Amino acid sequence: MSADSWAQGLQPYGLIVAPSGWEGDEQALVLRAVRRMAQALGGAEGMRRALGAVRLERRKQGGGGLYAFWPRPPWMRIVIGEPTLHQQPEWLGEVALVHELAHAWDARTANIVARVLGRPGRVVRELVRFVGEEPGPTWYGSGLSGLRRTLRAASEEWAETVAAYLYPEYIAHLSSRPEEQGWPQRAGLTGHVRPGLGPRHHAYVEERFQEIRRWCSSAL
Ligand SMILES: [Zn+2]
Repeated sequence: MSADSWAQGLQPYGLIVAPSGWEGDEQALVLRAVRRMAQALGGAEGMRRALGAVRLERRKQGGGGLYAFWPRPPWMRIVIGEPTLHQQPEWLGEVALVHELAHAWDARTANIVARVLGRPGRVVRELVRFVGEEPGPTWYGSGLSGLRRTLRAASEEWAETVAAYLYPEYIAHLSSRPEEQGWPQRAGLTGHVRPGLGPRHHAYVEERFQEIRRWCSSAL
């Protein structure tokens, strides 16, 4: 696939990319991640409905990040670092991209002032209310200090919840790590086996996906 046709192929999903600078396996990785998320959202139109248009840029260093407000069209920007795109197993790069796309989804439910200030949107705020004391799916995506969630921690919790929902293999992969298994106990959360999507997190994220899928089928 040429870089131009790759970039054109991402447009229906709302993703704007500059075709140059991406290696072939990176292009394939982006496409796989976007397709997996879009499929759960009822298709490319569901993805656009949930996230709107987002610019995706590759950078040489660092991990992934979302700029919820970027002062140029399409006003939202995801950057993803080359090291993040080349991990073992390979699909961890897809998980990282889906994580940033989940941040974009939430940002789309925030007003412009909140986006400029980097505050979470409705999706994250409702997640916090809905899940109560249930810890997030991963160590990274959880309020670490006794679950007194800051809104920033809650944003990561949402992004990791989406990643865990779309990539069960991510949870299986993390399960081999003692630090991932041990943190709920260290935080005083007895009876919570982690990593994994708890029932409330699962119910919440599933409903957000279904909401978009329902919109897609009613728009037909
Ligand atoms: Zn994040």
